[in-house]
Amino acid sequence: MLAAELRLHNVRVLVLEKETEPTSFIRIVGLHIRSLELMAMRGLLERILPHGRQRPAGAYFAAIPKPAPTGLDSRYAYLLGIPQPVIERLLEEHAVERGAQVRRGRAVTAFAQDDEGVTVELSDGEHLRTRYLVGCDGARSTVRKLLGVAFPGEPARTETLMGAMEVGVPPEEIAAAVTAVGDTHQRFWLRPAGAGVYSVLVPAAGVSDRSAPPTMEDFRQQLRAIAGTDFGVHSPRWLSRFGDATRLAERYRVGRVLLAGDAAHIHPPIGGQGLNLGVQDAVNLGWKLAAQVRGWAPESLLDTYQAERHPVAAAVLDNTRAQTELLSTEPGAQAVRRLLTELMDFDEVNRHLLEKITAIGIRYDFGEGPDLLGRRLPDLDVKHGHLYGLLHRGRGLLLDRTERLTVGGWSDRVDHLADPTAALDVPAVLLRPDGHVAWIGDDQQDLDGHLTRWFGRPAH
Ligand SMILES: Cc1cc2nc3c(=O)[nH]c(=O)nc-3n(C[C@H](O)[C@H](O)[C@H](O)COP(=O)(O)OP(=O)(O)OC[C@H]3O[C@@H](n4cnc5c(N)ncnc54)[C@H](O)[C@@H]3O)c2cc1C
Repeated sequence: MLAAELRLHNVRVLVLEKETEPTSFIRIVGLHIRSLELMAMRGLLERILPHGRQRPAGAYFAAIPKPAPTGLDSRYAYLLGIPQPVIERLLEEHAVERGAQVRRGRAVTAFAQDDEGVTVELSDGEHLRTRYLVGCDGARSTVRKLLGVAFPGEPARTETLMGAMEVGVPPEEIAAAVTAVGDTHQRFWLRPAGAGVYSVLVPAAGVSDRSAPPTMEDFRQQLRAIAGTDFGVHSPRWLSRFGDATRLAERYRVGRVLLAGDAAHIHPPIGGQGLNLGVQDAVNLGWKLAAQVRGWAPESLLDTYQAERHPVAAAVLDNTRAQTELLSTEPGAQAVRRLLTELMDFDEVNRHLLEKITAIGIRYDFGEGPDLLGRRLPDLDVKHGHLYGLLHRGRGLLLDRTERLTVGGWSDRVDHLADPTAALDVPAVLLRPDGHVAWIGDDQQDLDGHLTRWFGRPAH
């Protein structure tokens, strides 16, 4: 995602991936509303939709089964379930079509930075030179470790086994057992995953060695312990294990090296937010890093990446901590869960929680101003189409109902739409390339100040 964002601004990008082949773990991830909006903003959604399954947006906070609140303010008010390898492939294709280079089987092992750039060393001894390096290398990030950036938080308390395999009993028998056990065990499921294969999830507690890959016997043992039968599971497609460690990088940037995605933050998968958070980091960072490389970035623009995204990740970590507690089978936690379930009957409570999980409630701190300042705009109807259709090129956009404003010397970075839509109840709005509201007003001088703040000096 970041590579494609950088390519929008003609920045040369090389993606180094240590694995020679894409992963075969068919984990279904959920793309939440804000990520779907970002895909629509870049013209990617149509490509992604046929590969996923649209599900209702509700029932994601701690898996409390409440429908979504009424009148959600988005054209994309659903969850898209999609296999992670598929979304990764689609994003890679998109980046490559835009001109990014991807080199597989190339692991970063060391780097050194100076005033002009970063020298990166690969596992085969090759050295590469780049102006900036972004570590998007996952939870065990080599880049983060080499940078010496601390990763404080809590270690894993529970481990979970997850895999895909065939079963030896009829589907009805499995459905009945899952329903019976589901009430008392939150971390347990067998779900059909297509072609006679089931996705199986069980707690790892007490089985095998944490450092070794899980075995089928581990799964059988846990299924018998919980459900009284191992359902005759056999023929695994893949087996994996994940923990609920919660950690946040202390810094997202040291000089010319930055961190994004799981390299910057990890948390339990409850609520399905990790990949979404990473995609959103990428869209926040892409245009800023591009501005820096192209030479028009205002002094502190690149630092706003950490200022904006670090608190967002901290809030996601917190909501996953809360959700994890609510999944406990302890009587106290269960009582809190019942109470919250009652409270979610209030539309505002339900909405608040959903806006957290789906990231449409984010408001960046751009200083004093109306509530809309710092928030995203939904995909409003505008003349000749939809707002997000105007953001495909990753440029700024002035929506101008006054029809007397101009983007003047910034027209190479910022588009201008006069008389955009009656749905906007303010005179004019300046949108950043990530779709967040950077300014609201009707005064040209004030606008020029904000254009300078976000887009640097005018070209003429
Ligand atoms: C069971 C489970 C369910 C989940 N469900 C959801 C969900 O529903 N929704 C959601 O949003 N998220 C979900 N997640 C989280 C999601 O999978 C991660 O947040 C996401 O994969 C992070 O993406 P990333 O690109 O930052 O890191 P990764 O996916 O870890 O990718 C990092 C890449 O960097 C490569 N790499 C590592 N080191 C190097 C190196 N030194 N040099 C070169 N390359 C390197 C790796 O090979 C890897 O390909 C789930 C996670 C789990 C475990």
